[in-house]
Amino acid sequence: MAFLKDFSKTLSSVAQTTATKTKELAGTAKINLAIAAEEREINKHFTALGEWYYETNNANPDPAVAETFAAIEACYAKIEQLKATDAASSPQNAEAEPETVVEIEITCPSCGEPTTGAFCSACGKKLEDE
Ligand SMILES: [Zn+2]
Repeated sequence: MAFLKDFSKTLSSVAQTTATKTKELAGTAKINLAIAAEEREINKHFTALGEWYYETNNANPDPAVAETFAAIEACYAKIEQLKATDAASSPQNAEAEPETVVEIEITCPSCGEPTTGAFCSACGKKLEDE
């Protein structure tokens, strides 16, 4: 019986160690999450600091950061270019701003009459979206 007693003691000790390890891991994960949250906070402040610096030194950037300024300018230019392209060619954009939607006249595939909207004004057939 001494063997069984020892065996159960060992099991209980293993279980306790596992529980402690699990607790430690949970604690580590918690700490890592808290660290990540602080790092996000720091990044937010660095971004704000960078934006402030950019706004206040835009006209006359320090040579040390001139390259970064140029990269930012290039990104702004690219965004403007993308916006212009999107406004000119995107039907999704027209849907997002219904006040600027221009009804496009199409020919009804069913009756051949010119019409606008989701349904043919002549025969009432549902018109597919382009
Ligand atoms: Zn029709």
